[in-house]
Amino acid sequence: MDDRLKSEIEHRRDALIALTQALIAIPTLNPPGRNYLEICEYLADHLGARGFTTELIRAKGTPGDSERYPRWNMIARIEGTRPGECVHFNAHHDVVELGHGWTRDPFGGEIEGDRIYGRGACDMKGGLAASVIAAEAFLAICPDFAGSIEISATADEETGGYGGVAYLAEQGRFDPDRVQHVIIPEPLHKDQICLGHRGVWWAEIETHGRIAHGSMPFLGDSAIRHMGAVLAEMEETLFPLLLNKRTEMPVIPEGARASTLNINSIHGGEPEQEEGFTGLPAPCVADRCRIVIDRRFLIEEDIGAVKSEISALMERVKERRPSFTYEIRDLFEVQPSMTDREAPIVRSTAAAIEAVLGREASYVVSPGTYDQKHIDRIGRLKNCIAYGPGLLELAHQPDEWVGIADMLDSAKVMALVLVELLDPA
Ligand SMILES: [Zn+2]
Repeated sequence: MDDRLKSEIEHRRDALIALTQALIAIPTLNPPGRNYLEICEYLADHLGARGFTTELIRAKGTPGDSERYPRWNMIARIEGTRPGECVHFNAHHDVVELGHGWTRDPFGGEIEGDRIYGRGACDMKGGLAASVIAAEAFLAICPDFAGSIEISATADEETGGYGGVAYLAEQGRFDPDRVQHVIIPEPLHKDQICLGHRGVWWAEIETHGRIAHGSMPFLGDSAIRHMGAVLAEMEETLFPLLLNKRTEMPVIPEGARASTLNINSIHGGEPEQEEGFTGLPAPCVADRCRIVIDRRFLIEEDIGAVKSEISALMERVKERRPSFTYEIRDLFEVQPSMTDREAPIVRSTAAAIEAVLGREASYVVSPGTYDQKHIDRIGRLKNCIAYGPGLLELAHQPDEWVGIADMLDSAKVMALVLVELLDPA
């Protein structure tokens, strides 16, 4: 059966290419969230014609949702001939802005050699198309199977997933009594299984001083100098500490196997004037200075401890600077997620990778987050991985592409996972 399935997928090479091109041709740019309905309708038509029951679901009232840019999602489901478990393939249909430097038509789906070019080719319309073809081939070869297959195309992963997977999870669409296995075909390479991601804490730190004339700074109190002391303290104590926190999570790249902190922005004093303003700045002591920090933490760390690390640091600075006050505001947080290597979806994908590629699967964890966070936290479904064709390094780049051979191989892997989990007769 495995060999028949693999050759069935080879036979669908042209269909796979055509589907990938058709998806690339719908410019689902996010922000602001363009053409979500068009891509959902296209997929619903495609899968409806192949026996799936399809639903279009708008995530009304979620961030970014409006009459102009509604947040549409598509879920398709097909039942087997016997009761069993549900395997769900979830792909986000949104793509990021183009940026500069393209030498190809970003929505043209141009083919050269083994590559299909376009925005979203690897992240992740190629993975979406591969999962559709995997399911089609499985249904053709194994019509008598237990359980069900679901395929979803969801909004807004690139901007947090609130109008996509988070919304569907809140509606119970990822409850473990409804869905038992999830594969997210993000571009993580055809021989790697991504078990999860690190945690995130974004916060804004503001130092407070007192405004005065810049010629008499002793009459004021500079919030920028206080922030300078905060940054110096981070350099001296925090960054070395984070570098020494190492995780057992197999995060790639290697540098992300430690805790990290980025300072996303710094603003202090008089606001910047519009471009073209030719006047001089006014002499003032800055009474406010703000930074936004992006702390990525490990599964071994507790988010409470991550936060108190920062408040302890602020207190140390305050001890040396009596006039100094500050505020810390939480902006965003995500808990780390890591599926167990012994989980059924991991084991069956690993076996399928070995059967298709003739080598052992490797296990990775993503340095940043993706929609698994919502499936894990809101859906309470732990049996979830990211696995799909394409190279993560190409995501969000100009001249993004996906390899046709890679898509075929990962479609074979996904189809064999269905064989393993849905007990075809
Ligand atoms: Zn993606």
